[in-house]
Amino acid sequence: MASAPDEVGLRPGCRLCGSDRLYSVLDLGASPPCERFLTSAQLDEPEQTYPLHLRLCTDCLLAQIPPLISPEDTFTEYAYFSSYSTSWVAHSGAFVQDAIGRLGLGGDSFVVEVASNDGYLLQHVLAEGIRCLGVEPSVNVGAAARERGVPTETAFLNPESAAAVRAEHGPANLVVANNVYAHIPDVVGFTRGLRTLLADDGWVSIEVQYLATLLAGNQYDTIYHEHFQYYTVASAQRALAGGGLRLVDVERLTTHGGSIRLWARPAEIAGPPSERVIELLAEEKAAGLHERSGYQDFTDRVGLVRRNLLRFLLDAAEEGRRVVGYGAPGKANTLLNHCGIRPDLLPYTVDRNPYKHGRFTPGTRIPVHPPERIARDRPDFVLVLPWNLRTELTEQLRYVGEWGGRLVFPIPSLEIVDPVGFSVQDEVRSR
Ligand SMILES: [Zn+2]
Repeated sequence: MASAPDEVGLRPGCRLCGSDRLYSVLDLGASPPCERFLTSAQLDEPEQTYPLHLRLCTDCLLAQIPPLISPEDTFTEYAYFSSYSTSWVAHSGAFVQDAIGRLGLGGDSFVVEVASNDGYLLQHVLAEGIRCLGVEPSVNVGAAARERGVPTETAFLNPESAAAVRAEHGPANLVVANNVYAHIPDVVGFTRGLRTLLADDGWVSIEVQYLATLLAGNQYDTIYHEHFQYYTVASAQRALAGGGLRLVDVERLTTHGGSIRLWARPAEIAGPPSERVIELLAEEKAAGLHERSGYQDFTDRVGLVRRNLLRFLLDAAEEGRRVVGYGAPGKANTLLNHCGIRPDLLPYTVDRNPYKHGRFTPGTRIPVHPPERIARDRPDFVLVLPWNLRTELTEQLRYVGEWGGRLVFPIPSLEIVDPVGFSVQDEVRSR
């Protein structure tokens, strides 16, 4: 059956394998790009929205949304500075120590990080006396890295920019690409760029959100326009192979709600995959993730998250109880837009990143204030939008309990927590 012309426009084919057999997993309607926070002057201007529709390629298993916004639009002035999350900086320090030990890196090694942000990770490499270079597309974020002494080139990674970096600085023993593998529309070109940066006996380490935990944990707010694809181990293996790399090991991580760290090497020298790769592939297969069946009930579960959160906010408003937000991460904007939450239900949120202060959430136009505002206002409930930093934030927000306030976590399912009585054991039990 021939497709209608508008359907053809929406389905350009799989970005990895070109197949047109794309199966709808979750349709979140239309919303603005999640990092496009508005200034007060922009509140009177029109705001562009884009459809947000996750589909699965049933041939290569890459879950993807159409790349409707260009990375150039997103990253030229990017609002996310990694160093504002203390747990993220600590996580990166631990990774660097681990990589140095695992790969035997030393004074004559060279480490390149792609999408190096504000130098949050490479500062740990520098501290070990190892030569390093950041390749960061955002001008303002890269400038922050240079200010802290981390050498940083402003560039998008592709085979050409990678060749230029290699010609100037030499091949890398380790190329790190953390939390960027989902953000690039040209998966194959980016992967070839990683290979180009790499010495012939080098290692690539990639951290990326894990689609299996996204699905199992109802983490649908982590689907947004800047994340073009969502990986299982099976689809990541195929993506790496497309650029001449072979997956040799994989680790599961708790960061960003659930990620995987992929270790890959040039295909010619990689050798067979580890036991952990084989085990995770088997788990994915058992969960139905290598066919359609593992994706079929996601829409229903997401609908339940939305109804529970809205019911809570509507009841609180009805009872005259005050709810404010904590955090303004990009993913909050998928949740807020999908649920239709505006300042009548959530009068403001707060964030530690001063870039966002005085700005408004895209689409829903909720003001963002500095965190001190919460202690002044003493609200009844604080809706925690970066739910993935649950332990860190429950600790930080313990003071909310001093006036009887409660924390509300919307995902994986609505939960109301008294931060005074909170302990890590409680958290483990509630899982
Ligand atoms: Zn495909």
